[in-house]
Amino acid sequence: MRVAVLGTGTMGAGIARSLLRVGIQVSVWNRHVEKARALAGDGARVESSSAEAVRDADVVLTMLFDEPAVREVAEQFLPAMGPTAIWMQSATVGPDGIRRLADLASDYDVDLVDAPVVGTKKPAEEGTLAVVVSGDPAMIERLGPVLEAIGSKTVVAGAAIGAASALKLACNAWIATITAGTAQSLALCAALGVDPALFLSTIDGSPSNTPYAQLKGGMMIASDFTPSFGVDGLVKDLELMLAAIEGGSMPATLLETLRDEFRAAADEGHDRDDIASVITAFRAG
Ligand code: NAP
Repeated sequence: MRVAVLGTGTMGAGIARSLLRVGIQVSVWNRHVEKARALAGDGARVESSSAEAVRDADVVLTMLFDEPAVREVAEQFLPAMGPTAIWMQSATVGPDGIRRLADLASDYDVDLVDAPVVGTKKPAEEGTLAVVVSGDPAMIERLGPVLEAIGSKTVVAGAAIGAASALKLACNAWIATITAGTAQSLALCAALGVDPALFLSTIDGSPSNTPYAQLKGGMMIASDFTPSFGVDGLVKDLELMLAAIEGGSMPATLLETLRDEFRAAADEGHDRDDIASVITAFRAG
């Protein structure tokens, strides 16, 4: 099997390495080519255009930032895809976004599988992502070797394009909630004169603990904001959630507050830092 990975940022680079590790042939393309070149040593074929990268690929995996970026690149590579190749769209673009991209794919007679991923930089590097998929079951089955290489589990959300992207938004609402919730409790400790580290050690081992709170909480205490998941990405995803419920299908109160907190961190200059930097929005002054 040959896979083209388009977009070798934090997630795409890890995914490409996980594919190469199991012997899949991988071609890579990235807008700023130096990030793609970094994968040559792992055995990837580096191409200077997305059209060249997809030329002989069985699967084209897109891991670009957002829907406009995916659309811009898709207009270049879709005409170059082989007749039986599948487009596995893994960037987080929301249910409406993925349906618009599927419409674009159908203009070129290309089959698309909605395939966002849950998990961050380390699971991408280790091949332990949770991959959420929806689409034609026959197409999903053909993606088997890719799903196995990059994930430790595949969750089939249904046959409809958009189902997987909807589930992905629910997963990221959870990530936003735990991360902001952890920041809130650490900031509350500091505001009330208690050592914030005691919050993490108190919940550790209790049913309310989560490894994610320990991970992000530790980063917050150390002010280590090395990006695994950038604030800019989560703000984008919170906007997608708000757009998806715009018709009033549920109250938006908590999502709006979360969006505002992460946006405040971005406005303080943390947009390319890890989402743990949301702690800065909770600190007084
Ligand atoms: P990232 O490190 O910021 O990488 C973004 C990628 O998009 C880069 O390859 C970038 O190219 C490319 N890009 C942005 N705008 C572009 C444009 N107009 N034209 C062409 N390429 C463009 O982001 P990431 O964390 O890997 O995230 C990628 C996708 O995965 C996003 O949809 C994100 O929401 C989703 N996701 C992220 C995580 C996570 O934990 N990080 C987890 C699950 C899903 P350049 O390098 O040239 O700028």
